[in-house]
Amino acid sequence: MTIPTIERFRHETRRRTLTIAATERLTPHMLRLTLSGPELEGFVSLSPGDHIKIFVPDGQGGQAMRDYTPRHHDAAQGTLVIDFALHDAGLATQWALSVQPGDKAEIGGPRGSQVIGGPVARWLLVGDETALPSIARRVEELPRGVFVTTLVAVPGPEDEQPLAIGEGRAFWAHRQDPTDPAPLLEQLAGIEVQPETFVWIAAEAGVARALRDHLLDRGHPPAWLKAAGYWVAGEADASAKDL
Ligand SMILES: Cc1cc2nc3c(=O)[nH]c(=O)nc-3n(C[C@H](O)[C@H](O)[C@H](O)COP(=O)(O)OP(=O)(O)OC[C@H]3O[C@@H](n4cnc5c(N)ncnc54)[C@H](O)[C@@H]3O)c2cc1C
Repeated sequence: MTIPTIERFRHETRRRTLTIAATERLTPHMLRLTLSGPELEGFVSLSPGDHIKIFVPDGQGGQAMRDYTPRHHDAAQGTLVIDFALHDAGLATQWALSVQPGDKAEIGGPRGSQVIGGPVARWLLVGDETALPSIARRVEELPRGVFVTTLVAVPGPEDEQPLAIGEGRAFWAHRQDPTDPAPLLEQLAGIEVQPETFVWIAAEAGVARALRDHLLDRGHPPAWLKAAGYWVAGEADASAKDL
């Protein structure tokens, strides 16, 4: 059986100081920042699975770094869009909520890109709101004719976003506790996963693990699945990038 390919690319990493061009509350729990500035020149993001580092004040006079997805890069316009899932307490979340157009933003990366290709006829994209920027971008960037199913957990119906899903299907789960895999698992159990479907999962690490295990138990081949913990409950600046 043929299997998907994962091509790895390295990029020159440099730190860029950009300016906040716009802020927009997309949904109650998602804040969009548009960054721009001459230092965006040469920025490359080849995959929706990429991440950049955002440098934010650590509250003690220094800086902390957090990982975020380049949601949309427009080289011609010179803009980079980042979507922040808003949660109770976090340095990056606080920073995103505090900035105004004209303020500075410091970013680094992406250091590299992993481009998934080969004989992928269908995609199943599953995750929580931290994965939504990557999922929304992938849906937009997939070639026409590739069937995509999305399943995303968000706090409530008002947090759902329109996805450029075409002929595909978008499922939403609503949940109180983002560390509880049950609402996603319940819906995933009812979704048929055909051969040649690449499954991409990102959520809180324990949730991502539970979703991955469920699909492997159903016999989905490991080469057709990639799962990541985009955050780890109870730990700041933590992730499990390859589960
Ligand atoms: C490759 C990659 C891409 C990512 N892309 C995005 C993106 O585009 N948008 C996005 O919003 N996030 C994204 N994330 C997740 C983001 O990096 C983490 O959620 C990060 O911890 C947020 O930083 P913070 O400073 O707000 O919270 P932290 O200071 O890191 O954490 C403080 C506390 O909040 C908890 N916590 C962290 N995130 C959440 C959450 N979402 N909900 C509830 N509790 C949380 C932590 O467990 C910790 O207890 C991505 C992560 C990875 C690895």
